[in-house]
Amino acid sequence: MKTTYFRDFYLLNPGSEPQKRIIRHAYVIVHERRIIHCGEDQEAAEKCWSSLQLQFAANMQIYEGYGKKLLLPAFINCHTHLVMSLFRNSADDQNLQDWLFQTIFPLENKLRERDYRIGTQLACLELIKNGIAATFDMYARPDLSIPEVMRAGLRYLPGIDDKVRDKDFKASIDKNIIAKMQDLAQTYPQEQLKLTYMIHSIYLYQEDFFPQAADYLAANPQLLLQMHLCETQKEYSDCLKRFGKSPVKQMDEFRLLGKGTVAAHCVVLTDEDREILAKRQVTVVHNPTSNLKLGSGIADIKALLQQQIRVCLGSDGAASNNNLNLYNEMKLAALLSKGQYRRADIITAFDVLQMATCNGYKAAGLGAGVIKEGELADIQVVNLDSVNTFPINDLAAAVVYSLQTEQVESLMVLGQFVYYKKEYLTLDVEKIKYEAAKCVDFLHSDVQAH
Ligand SMILES: [Zn+2]
Repeated sequence: MKTTYFRDFYLLNPGSEPQKRIIRHAYVIVHERRIIHCGEDQEAAEKCWSSLQLQFAANMQIYEGYGKKLLLPAFINCHTHLVMSLFRNSADDQNLQDWLFQTIFPLENKLRERDYRIGTQLACLELIKNGIAATFDMYARPDLSIPEVMRAGLRYLPGIDDKVRDKDFKASIDKNIIAKMQDLAQTYPQEQLKLTYMIHSIYLYQEDFFPQAADYLAANPQLLLQMHLCETQKEYSDCLKRFGKSPVKQMDEFRLLGKGTVAAHCVVLTDEDREILAKRQVTVVHNPTSNLKLGSGIADIKALLQQQIRVCLGSDGAASNNNLNLYNEMKLAALLSKGQYRRADIITAFDVLQMATCNGYKAAGLGAGVIKEGELADIQVVNLDSVNTFPINDLAAAVVYSLQTEQVESLMVLGQFVYYKKEYLTLDVEKIKYEAAKCVDFLHSDVQAH
């Protein structure tokens, strides 16, 4: 465990009260997993550092910011499918239903155990370089992805899929799957791994499955629930035809909407749907790039915020984005709302920064999401000394509207660097790329997996 002194940085805390959001010259000390000092007074910081040096002579490092670098809470990606990084740029320019049923499902049918592992590693490389310390994930075989994300040093909320599907997608629940996953989770630190439950969507299962899932969740209220919800007009119309109700209303009737529900997309909603989401305190994950790219539409974020609904950001999978990059999502989210309402003040740079940081961390219940004394240290370091962010007249605007992600130079997760001055400390980038290329050759070949 290292102790790190960040000396003379810009500090941006999107989740703090307005007058406390920016510190021009900040001094921050991280000891083990937590921030133990954070302030503008250099003398106080140096004193704290000296007393630490007396106690812990080894493993201490100073990170100089020279007044030109930024400390920003690390991001949390609230909706993605990590393994799909292997499918990047292989299923483009298709509507969601064709994309999913004609391209993605056949590819997924070929996935071998090694593909799950390498796909997860590849995704972790991209999360790390984009300042993302924690990620939700919805995918099959979390037993294979969990060890990889843990090795990468990131914080992880995989969705546990306890459903066994026959060829007609009729799902039945196998409780052994959850028990096995819970055993596996015991072997990792709780702060790094938090199991969640997942229900892909309302359209993928037969009706009798949902009440069983609701019973299970009622008996396990600590589990967050991840789902896709109201992603497309087709999903909405099909649900109306099938159940006579909107997906939100029907999921609510199934008792599947609550404080722990993290619903991705929510593009197609009525006012009544939004009222239900607000009443049930559901968290909504906005995935603007994926929604545009799959031709699904534009979520009305302002209407959600007006209902006091918590909104976070997600990249969705690399097969529908095609990056895992919340800087892109922040900028797009801000621009879309402004364009949608024809009003530039409808949403601010701070609003989208909160979505990428504190809102997501709150939804995940992970701590962090803000840089202050006592908090867990999930921090990204950004070099602002670049022509495209110069001059910095407004720090939040610089980060949301001008920054290039290449300016992210380090990522600290739970007090430890996983990426330090552009170098990966936990993953071998060349090896992963080499292995991933081999996986992709197999997936696109005619050879079938056994
Ligand atoms: Zn998705």
